[in-house]
Amino acid sequence: MGRYLEAKCKICRRNQAKLFLKGDRCLSVKCGFEKRAYPPGLKGQDALRKKVSDYGIQLKEKQKLRNMYGIFETQFRNYFRKAETIPGITGENFLCFLERRLDNVVYRIGLASSRNGAREIVGHGHILINGKKMNIPSYLVKTGDIIEAKSNFKIKEEGLPVWMEKIDNKIRIVRFPKINEMATTINENLIVAFYTR
Ligand code: SF4
Repeated sequence: MGRYLEAKCKICRRNQAKLFLKGDRCLSVKCGFEKRAYPPGLKGQDALRKKVSDYGIQLKEKQKLRNMYGIFETQFRNYFRKAETIPGITGENFLCFLERRLDNVVYRIGLASSRNGAREIVGHGHILINGKKMNIPSYLVKTGDIIEAKSNFKIKEEGLPVWMEKIDNKIRIVRFPKINEMATTINENLIVAFYTR
């Protein structure tokens, strides 16, 4: 396995979860976590036996989600602070911000096999929002936005999130996602506890 690939897989192993950072490889037998489901390093297997504090559990969940979406801590925390100030349940608002990021949407609609790949597609200017080029991966999609790819990218036919609809080879955002529609195994309450402790 190459160094770069291994670096991604180490993130999964450190988080003790498959975070799907490598596209198709994650679904294959080559998945680094499937092969070695313990943290990297000499003491990796020992770490599994250690008792973890409440703080440690919350921190781990937060890191897992942050690594899953590939966001730096400052921006990640900013989403949380913003989620606290708007109506609704903070944890759900927070996940909704992450899910509305353009790089995530490009990944969800099958234009890339990982969020990392999606970020590159957006950064290279292949994505249009309402007919205009949008090259900012952190752009938050809004209800009514029409998303399309400039060149020959094909939006997937099946498994599209229910909060979007496909029209020809374009996607329209019908509404914001609800908590049970975000396809994560994250316990957001642990993350709320982490940031509000
Ligand atoms: Fe690597 Fe598996 Fe994680 Fe994909 S899910 S990045 S293959 S460890």
